[in-house]
Amino acid sequence: MKAALLEKFEQPLTITQVKDPVVPADGVVIDVSVCGVCRSDWHGWKGTNHVITLPHVPGHEFVGVVVETGPDCKRIKKGDRVTAPVIMGCGQCSACSAGHLTICDDQYVVGFSGWGAFAERVAVPFADANVVVVPENIGDEVAAALGCRTTTAFAAVVDKAQVKAGESLAVHGCGGVGLSAILIGAAIGAEVIAVDIVDEKLSLARELGATHVINAAKVQDVAEAIRDLTGGGAQASIEALGITETFHNSLRCLAKLGRHVQIGQPLDSHANPPIPLLETIYYRQLVVMGSRGLPAHRFGALFNLLATGRADMTRLIKNRVSLSEVSDIFVQMNNHEDVGMTLVNRF
Ligand SMILES: [Zn+2]
Ligand SMILES: [Zn+2]
Repeated sequence: MKAALLEKFEQPLTITQVKDPVVPADGVVIDVSVCGVCRSDWHGWKGTNHVITLPHVPGHEFVGVVVETGPDCKRIKKGDRVTAPVIMGCGQCSACSAGHLTICDDQYVVGFSGWGAFAERVAVPFADANVVVVPENIGDEVAAALGCRTTTAFAAVVDKAQVKAGESLAVHGCGGVGLSAILIGAAIGAEVIAVDIVDEKLSLARELGATHVINAAKVQDVAEAIRDLTGGGAQASIEALGITETFHNSLRCLAKLGRHVQIGQPLDSHANPPIPLLETIYYRQLVVMGSRGLPAHRFGALFNLLATGRADMTRLIKNRVSLSEVSDIFVQMNNHEDVGMTLVNRF
């Protein structure tokens, strides 16, 4: 099959023929229709995600049709149009049995711990616990765009922060996952404050339902600006970049009893930031949560939200490319000015 092979970090992917994937006993092989290009693919390409071993095929935001099933796979059938969460739990352990598949010790992270979907076909294990059959009313592009970004945002806004209509939600960072959080927050009826340093991203944030936008490069103190806008602080705040400064802004912008959710992956120098413990977490009695991925059994709730028509995912999709153009997209992502989502729809 044709695949985009990462042979050297920060170098163009090689479009080449590789062996067809072997179906895992409890898994499936999927013929990929569309695959998103995510910021975490870019981290992998840069070499900052240390799970990846070369040569490697990235790509984890896919939709496609099942062409092969393993002998132990019972629920998913050949011909099913499917997607899957980026973090796949084993489905057997105590965490998975309790529904927490994204913290499974034996998790498989497609496109990172194994080869991904920048290829004509992708194999995934643990299919019964993870593979999601896409409903007919969700097209291929939206299904791929749900990818890791919208699903992660949904878990953060709905399952972790439990944002309610009328509450204020600050979103720090308007990349794919941040914009998804804005779209979902607005769909729920929250007052959403979007923060970024790129005006074009903030314009899109407003289109997606942000009530207020703040260009962090143009204000003295982002957290103070949010506390002013909200009359004392946001009830919930999402950090969607993995950067120490925005993490601090997120904690400091919260009202008393506010909920912070960390969805940006803090890599390298951002992995162990100092925490303003006394003035924020302690006195303001904040709740600080981490969120990573969305287990397959929660996709139905996200599909239901999309079916209401209040969250139009198609407005997030800004660019469609062929497999051979993914390297160019990574280079463009170096300046962090990429707006909306890019999908690979030609293999
Ligand atoms: Zn497990
Ligand atoms: Zn991703």
